[in-house]
Amino acid sequence: MRTLEQKIDWDDVEDKLYDFRKDWQHVQIVLPIMKRIVDLCEKEGATLLAHYYQIPELQYIAHSTGDSLKLCIDAQKVNTPYIVFCGVHFMAESAHLLNPEKTVLLPDTAASCSIAEGITPDMIKHIRKHNPESAILAYVNTTAATKAEVDAIYTSSNAQKILNNIPNKKVILLPDPNLAENLFRKMKDKISGKEVLYYKEYDFENKFIYLRNATKGTELLLPFFKGEVPKTKTGACYVHEELSRSPQMILSYKQRFNPDLIIGHFEISPDLISEGYLSLDQIGSTTDMIEMVKKSGARKVLMLTECHLGASIKSAIPEVEIITPCVLCKYMQKISLDKVVQSLETKKPVITIPEPTFSKAKRAITNMFELMK
Ligand code: SF4
Repeated sequence: MRTLEQKIDWDDVEDKLYDFRKDWQHVQIVLPIMKRIVDLCEKEGATLLAHYYQIPELQYIAHSTGDSLKLCIDAQKVNTPYIVFCGVHFMAESAHLLNPEKTVLLPDTAASCSIAEGITPDMIKHIRKHNPESAILAYVNTTAATKAEVDAIYTSSNAQKILNNIPNKKVILLPDPNLAENLFRKMKDKISGKEVLYYKEYDFENKFIYLRNATKGTELLLPFFKGEVPKTKTGACYVHEELSRSPQMILSYKQRFNPDLIIGHFEISPDLISEGYLSLDQIGSTTDMIEMVKKSGARKVLMLTECHLGASIKSAIPEVEIITPCVLCKYMQKISLDKVVQSLETKKPVITIPEPTFSKAKRAITNMFELMK
C-alpha cells in the first residue's frame, strides 16, 4: 500500500493513461483533477482505496487497489483519519467495520451492487428457520444488515478453507448462485463430508425461496415468505450474467483475436463451463485472474469480467494485450473524479452502521478470519 509520503511518478501515470485511453485530450483534462485529489489526500489525511473495477484514473492514483478481500485487509492497515472508498457501498461498510476509528467516505452512496441487492435479512431468517442445523455463509458482496444475520462471510479465495473448518455438516452459501455453483464444482473433491446448498432464486409471484442442494443435485422450496423481498430475482452479478448471455460472442472473439489465454470470473454462469466454452481451470477470483495472466506468460488474453480490470493488468504487465467484451458495472461507475474531489472537500458522505447491526456484522467478518486459520 502506498503511504501518503510516497510520491506518484506523474510521467508514468500519464503514459499508462494514454496507453489505456488512447486519447490525448482526455488525459490533459483529467490529469489536473487527479493531481488535485492527491493534494487533497495529503492535506486532509486521507487514504484512497480503489477497486479494480474503478476507472483507471482512480486506480493509478489510489494508495491501494484490489478486489473486495484485499481492500478489506488494507482498510485495517490505514492510519490516516479518513478513508475514501472508491468502490461500492458494501465495500465501504466493510472498511468501516474493520477500521471503525477512521471516517469512511463513499463519494456516491448510490453505488450499490446487484449481488448485495439480491438478498434481505428477512430472507436469511426464513432460510435459517427451515434449516436450523445449517451454517449460513454470505459472500463478502453483501450489506452489513445481511452480514449481521449470517454465521460467517466467505470470498471465492477462502471458501474451501472455511467450508472445511466450519463444524456444521450442512452449509448454505448465499446470495450469488453462479459463484456458489462454480465454487462447489471446483472444490467438491476437497470438502468431503460437507453438504453444500445455496440460495438459487426468489419467486416474486408465489413468494417462494428456492435453494439448491449442490451435493445432491436437488432443489428445495421454502414457501410462505412474508418479509422484505429482494430487489432482484437472483443474487447474481448482473455484469457477469450479461457476459454469460451470449456464448456465441466468446466464440467470435476467439476466432477474431486468437488469444493465448481465455479467463473468466467465478461469477459467470456455470452453464458456460457445462457447455464447454470454458473449463473450471479458466475461472477464478479477480486476484486469481491477475495471477493466471502473470503465470501463463500469455501475451494476448481474452478476459470475461468487468473490463476496467484490464487497466490493472496492463499496469502490472504492460506487454499483455487484453481483449474484453466491455461490460462496465453501472454501480462502480458512479464514483467519478469530481465526486472524489467533492467528498474530500466536504468530508461527506460518511458511512455509518447502527448497532446492533455493526456488532453482529463485525462478528461474521471476524468469524471468517478465524475460519481461515
Ligand atoms: S461488478 Fe457485479 S459484483 Fe461487482 S459491484 Fe458490480 S454488480 Fe456487484
